[in-house]
Amino acid sequence: MTNNSEKKLFFIATYGCQMNEEDSEKLSGILKKIGYDRTDIKEDADLIIFNTCCVRENAELKVYGNIGALKSLKKKKHELIIAVCGCMMQQKGMAEKLIKKFPFVDIIFGTHNSYKFPEYLSTVKQNRTSLIEIQDTEDGIIEGIPIDRKSDVKAFVTIMYGCNNFCTYCVVPYVRGRERSREPQNIEKEIKNLISKGYKEITLLGQNVNSYGKGLEPKITFADLLRRINKIEGLERIRFMTSHPKDLTKDVIDAVNECDKVCEHIHLPVQSGSTKILKKMNRRYTREQYLKLVHDIKQTIPKVSITTDIIVGFPGETDEDFEDTLSLAKEIEYDSAFTFLYSKREGTPAKEMKDHIPEDVKHQRFEKLVKVINESCSKKNAEYENKTEEVLVEGFSKNDITKLTGRTRTGKLVNFVGNSEHIGKLVDVKIIKARSFSLEGKEL
Ligand code: SAH
Ligand code: SF4
Repeated sequence: MTNNSEKKLFFIATYGCQMNEEDSEKLSGILKKIGYDRTDIKEDADLIIFNTCCVRENAELKVYGNIGALKSLKKKKHELIIAVCGCMMQQKGMAEKLIKKFPFVDIIFGTHNSYKFPEYLSTVKQNRTSLIEIQDTEDGIIEGIPIDRKSDVKAFVTIMYGCNNFCTYCVVPYVRGRERSREPQNIEKEIKNLISKGYKEITLLGQNVNSYGKGLEPKITFADLLRRINKIEGLERIRFMTSHPKDLTKDVIDAVNECDKVCEHIHLPVQSGSTKILKKMNRRYTREQYLKLVHDIKQTIPKVSITTDIIVGFPGETDEDFEDTLSLAKEIEYDSAFTFLYSKREGTPAKEMKDHIPEDVKHQRFEKLVKVINESCSKKNAEYENKTEEVLVEGFSKNDITKLTGRTRTGKLVNFVGNSEHIGKLVDVKIIKARSFSLEGKEL
């Protein structure tokens, strides 16, 4: 198929977390500014971009498969430009490995220099040779990059980049660089601009939002930032992620409780319920400290929902350690959780540890954990039946276009019968039925 319109088209595939999603929205914004339009049909595109993730091995394998599948398209369409970027490219030796495996890839760049993409694009168009541009270090924070957001209702706003925590399993600090916080006035400016375009909800993003502000003058903490943003007129909802338990202070918990716009949902990755494993992971909190933190959150913030990330099968995890994770999950009764099988990552200390857990054991434990999580998720959802909830209407439901979809302040997905003119607005919805992973309702 060829593109007959004047404008060149780009297709972008995004892997991994919200940070990558936001990076893709920025790439998209940059491309629209230089005259490209977005398409969801790969075959129509003049430019195909893969924004990669390397947090777990299966994310990497997916990327390989999808790039490989483009070989025939590139053969048919010589002018097609293929670019690969993101976290995976930032790993040592990866760009070279990739170009060797897929010589038809035109541009490879990393996480620190995506704002230079138009420059790379014109070089490649002129020279018709492959270009690899990976920077080892960040260029500070680049403000003012145009962002082409997916939603018209809710938006991600990055408040800090990078991570200093070096959890022993995690590749993020190596591929995203050291922690650096954005100036609060730049964050506020971005949010005010979003409100002027009709956005109602923002999610403050960072690998560890609770350590926001380090190195900024005058001094500012994450709790201060929440209080400042809460004052912005026209904004309806504030969310944030991710919170590292070691840095979540009483002041942040109080700020969440006090600030009317800050939603009652805390994503608090625990990773393991065993203090021994947490130590090996370099998480810098114990099981008891985590439990106490959750207790304090629940005491302070009425109706709060707590979600988490858990890794199963970290090196050295015994049956007993895993039982500690199960019992912690049972005690907390999470609203939902992302559960992961431990995956060896190049360059991380955990990869070199002894006592890696056999795959079948990991899988058995994983199944047990998922069962416990699903039980608490269903139980928590059932508590919403017959209640009235405020929902921010995001659009039509994907699975049933006769229904609208949106989320409660606590982050629960609600599909409901309602007035489509209310898309982008806050409405009251009566919850009629709780399902395992969503709620069904009717607009009041
Ligand atoms: N900064 C966030 C999340 C970063 S990555 C935090 O600290 O919580 C998202 C999740 O991926 C992590 O919380 C962890 O549960 C999971 N993860 C990271 N590295 C992993 C690995 N090597 N194997 C399995 N899961 C991993
Ligand atoms: Fe990775 Fe830990 Fe940093 Fe999260 S806090 S990004 S898990 S190193």
